[in-house]
Amino acid sequence: MDFSLSKELVDFRESVRQFAIQHVKPTAEQRDLDERWDPDIWRKMGEFGLLGLCFPEEYGGSGADCLTTTVATEAFAEGATDGGLTLAWGAHTIIGTMPIVLCGTKEQKERYVPKLASGEWVAGLGLTEPGSGSDAAGSMETRAEKKGDRYILNGAKMFITNGPIGDVFTVMAVTDKKKGPLGISVFLVEKNFPGFRVGKKLKKMGMRSSTTSELIFEDCEVPAENMIEKPNSGFLRVGKATLEWERTVLVASAIGSMHHMLDESIRYAKARRQFGEPIARFQAIQEKISRVRMKLDASRLLLYKSAVMKDQGKPAPIESSLAKVHATEAVIEAAYEMGQIHGGYCFIHEYPVERAYRDCRLGTLGGGTSEVMRSIIAANL
Ligand SMILES: Cc1cc2nc3c(=O)[nH]c(=O)nc-3n(C[C@H](O)[C@H](O)[C@H](O)COP(=O)(O)OP(=O)(O)OC[C@H]3O[C@@H](n4cnc5c(N)ncnc54)[C@H](O)[C@@H]3O)c2cc1C
Repeated sequence: MDFSLSKELVDFRESVRQFAIQHVKPTAEQRDLDERWDPDIWRKMGEFGLLGLCFPEEYGGSGADCLTTTVATEAFAEGATDGGLTLAWGAHTIIGTMPIVLCGTKEQKERYVPKLASGEWVAGLGLTEPGSGSDAAGSMETRAEKKGDRYILNGAKMFITNGPIGDVFTVMAVTDKKKGPLGISVFLVEKNFPGFRVGKKLKKMGMRSSTTSELIFEDCEVPAENMIEKPNSGFLRVGKATLEWERTVLVASAIGSMHHMLDESIRYAKARRQFGEPIARFQAIQEKISRVRMKLDASRLLLYKSAVMKDQGKPAPIESSLAKVHATEAVIEAAYEMGQIHGGYCFIHEYPVERAYRDCRLGTLGGGTSEVMRSIIAANL
């Protein structure tokens, strides 16, 4: 057992962190205040190879494995201090496009993946609905009915990351109601398909540099060849193949954010003087720093284990859920405690710890809540 990353991966991690420090961090505060996703930064991310990092090389990607993608996400979040853009990237690459990469036909891959790898197109996933999130499979109301060579979709999807800017969405819809969760299929819906429209952009507490909206399907016409996998394989095959990637790679944002907050807080605690000495001398401050470092290391080890298991082709339902619960709860605690170290400055937009405090709140909700993750762990045990 060797806990170190290869030199190649350490160097790549640093190059991603530097990219984010140079191109993303300088405008992170303003884009958060403006609730703005920036197409120029997105284009640069495409040129740097981030948008297609884990897609096969033959479709314009870099063929990176799950561990490399996880480490890159962590490094990006650490350098960028921009949870929103890190989320937009993950929604595009992992939940939006990996279903095509892992389960799509050759034609689907050829049509979509190169444009998504370069950043010419943006992707997203439409699973959650206004009336169902945790029970997305059991209570799904969006229907797809076959008519000739097309499927007709009716319904709505809620809280969709990249909704307002997306060109293509991986959308789940019921094709056989009698079969319940086993009667759901996955479709690739382009923004120009007749009957598709984007609802209003949602105003958010955090992750504000990503865009979120409802997606609406009113007799939306989707060519039958845009179904991923066979009818009714939405959860058993496509969901299964993608979910553990989501619960590993997207969660890496929490690790990067924790790492940045810890470094910043140590620096601040050494510089800030009260009662005639640096606050870093106070045991109450030291306790926060050592506790957050402990949580960071534990979260990182859980996450890397889950990523390595994905790369070894092993199912990781317990490991990915453990990593998600631990890291997303740890980053909330870290944001609180590192905020305490910053005193009143943690309340001021200019300090990244303020943004991290709002951004990290999504972690225990999106992609399966902490409660649901715990029930998956318990069910598997
Ligand atoms: C900013 C943002 C971005 C998002 N991006 C996307 C996206 O791109 N695509 C997408 O499809 N979805 C997206 N989501 C949706 C997200 O995944 C859901 O919000 C999440 O799955 C929770 O569903 P819900 O909000 O309907 O909560 P509910 O399922 O209604 O849950 C409410 C509460 O009940 C608890 N609960 C529910 N069932 C159980 C149970 N069995 N046991 C114990 N407790 C339970 C939950 O844990 C929670 O505390 C996004 C959400 C947000 C806020």
